Amino acid sequence: MAFARTLRGDVAPETLGVVNAHDHLIRVGAGEVYIDGDHQLDDVDKAVQEASYFVAASKNWTPNGGTVVDMCPINCGRDLERLAKVEERVDGLQIIQSTGFHQEKVYLETQSHWVSRYSVDKIAELIIADITEGIDKHDYSGPLVERLPYKAGVIKVATAYGKITKFERKCIEASAIAAIETGCPINTHTSAGTCGLEQAELMISLGVPADQIAIGHIQRNADIWYLTQILKTGVYLELDGTARLKYQPEANRIKEFRELGEAGYGDRLLLGTDSGKRGYQKAYGATTGVDYNPAVDGPRMLDEGFDRAYVEKLLMFNAQKFFTFRKAA
Ligand SMILES: [Zn+2]
Repeated sequence: MAFARTLRGDVAPETLGVVNAHDHLIRVGAGEVYIDGDHQLDDVDKAVQEASYFVAASKNWTPNGGTVVDMCPINCGRDLERLAKVEERVDGLQIIQSTGFHQEKVYLETQSHWVSRYSVDKIAELIIADITEGIDKHDYSGPLVERLPYKAGVIKVATAYGKITKFERKCIEASAIAAIETGCPINTHTSAGTCGLEQAELMISLGVPADQIAIGHIQRNADIWYLTQILKTGVYLELDGTARLKYQPEANRIKEFRELGEAGYGDRLLLGTDSGKRGYQKAYGATTGVDYNPAVDGPRMLDEGFDRAYVEKLLMFNAQKFFTFRKAA
């Protein structure tokens, strides 16, 4: 039976409802918080509040509510016990948790990191165990591993601005092995939309089926020709970074959805918001948050003349298909 892997277990993909394909509800410490303290998302009550807004907006589109894909990867502040509490407390919410890795700079100092010391195969084993056995209570931050009953349902890989470092390439090689072995989808982080094509080509060359890969944050490179070159490899694109007006107007994202849809790629586009800072969440006082896709993007696209069926694909159906494992349990 087809399934997506959430914190609750394996569920029928159509129960996911509206899917926010890249976001953050809980992050407790680690490198990003050291780089910018606004990344700290340790408050379960605030996460419950933020997720509740998302589910309320999602219910305008489907009675199933919504799913947040929490893209915090290994050793970046995952706290599955807190995150599971959020899922339990919000009716109509499901959560898919990421394994895999962030870009090298987030780990601050990587000569001594276990990724630099272990073999690719050993790193792949750890990713596979997150997916098939349960995520480490300690987020693979220390030598003791205690697996929780919550399994990962997506693998993150990430690259630097304009380059793929040796550390990142090793993480990608291990992630590719884990994706092929488990059938788990890969969702990526590009830095400001750079290296999207290189990520796709590298993972495909490592044997990952193209349609098991989504290239993420790629909206930052609001260049339709370039995005089309990535889509021609057969991968999905994941567009998020909503209401980040310091980088580009929202009209760029809407244009990407319109023009890529018209070019025939509308089945391989995913929406997220990547509201991974306190300053990007309503629960902490921001004007926009995790609910942006169903609350603002969907209504706006309808207002701008998009077909409702296409908007529903973008909000729900493309992601329900993408987050389905490529192998039976
Ligand atoms: Zn993120």
